[in-house]
Amino acid sequence: MRAFAYTRPTSIAEAVALLDRHGPEARLLAGGTDLIIRLRDGSLVPEVVIDLKRIAELQPGIREIDRRLVISATTVMTDIAADPRVAMHFRALAEAAAVVGSVQIRNRATLGGNVCNASPAADTAPALLVHEAIAVTAGPAGSRRIPIDELFVRSGVTTLGRGELVTAIELPIPAGRVGSVHLRRTRRRGHDLASVTLACAIDTAGVTRLAYGSVGPRPVVAVDATGLLADRTATPEAKAELLERMFADASPSPRSMRASPEYRLAMLRVLGLRGLDIAIERLAAAEGGR
Ligand SMILES: Cc1cc2nc3c(=O)[nH]c(=O)nc-3n(C[C@H](O)[C@H](O)[C@H](O)COP(=O)(O)OP(=O)(O)OC[C@H]3O[C@@H](n4cnc5c(N)ncnc54)[C@H](O)[C@@H]3O)c2cc1C
Repeated sequence: MRAFAYTRPTSIAEAVALLDRHGPEARLLAGGTDLIIRLRDGSLVPEVVIDLKRIAELQPGIREIDRRLVISATTVMTDIAADPRVAMHFRALAEAAAVVGSVQIRNRATLGGNVCNASPAADTAPALLVHEAIAVTAGPAGSRRIPIDELFVRSGVTTLGRGELVTAIELPIPAGRVGSVHLRRTRRRGHDLASVTLACAIDTAGVTRLAYGSVGPRPVVAVDATGLLADRTATPEAKAELLERMFADASPSPRSMRASPEYRLAMLRVLGLRGLDIAIERLAAAEGGR
């Protein structure tokens, strides 16, 4: 590992100034579960590592503000998976957080780190996409609110500008009921990055949001507003035909060691239909419980 300077700013302004000064030579450290591995294997050689843990404004926490759930970027997966408001309104996110790595990883891994690492296999990404999350940032020009779909570019690359960091992820609490689910395929039980991830959310208006990851350079979201996918009387064949069009942006790499493109695409179709069934059932159960 090459030597680097280590800093622990105590304010967001200080962190932003450091990031801005050092540009690509600086790396933020949140839980470190992605960063430390890359520092050790030499795939990242920053001059300075900026630890976020001493910043009082960035303390972990989940708050409800004006019909939005605001999750601080430093909140760890364990706390997201256990939060009753996340479970009630954003079940796909609770399920995604609950399967990241192992207990030890989930106790360190932050939501901000999962998003900003921008891995196509990031488990929370599809859930955040179907729940229409917004990344709140701080940077040299002030704060921005970026729809999560506009944040991801490709593996390791986001639309964050120089000096910018994510301070929170906001989730709009839906006015009506929503049935949602997160599913994934891994090579084995226990901790493993996903070969395919999929999240599905269906609302009372019959709008279906499907997002999938690990099958291309970035996670993708597609929306069906026709009501077909949410219709429990529609045939699997009709749904599969529409899903095929919604999966058009899936382009798995033939070079991945985790799974072949053929396997990933086959599993994406399976998870798509399965996700629809579960989301429909959950929506019906939620409406029945009103
Ligand atoms: C054994 C193991 C198993 C894993 N399993 C899974 C899994 O099943 N699913 C999964 O999705 N991931 C998995 N991961 C990856 C990792 O745990 C997650 O991506 C985690 O959420 C990263 O969060 P972190 O706080 O540790 O990020 P860090 O490692 O601290 O940071 C990751 C990257 O994001 C940047 N960053 C961090 N916070 C911010 C911020 N607020 N603003 C801007 N940039 C920021 C950092 O500079 C760095 O480039 C696994 C990792 C390990 C080691």
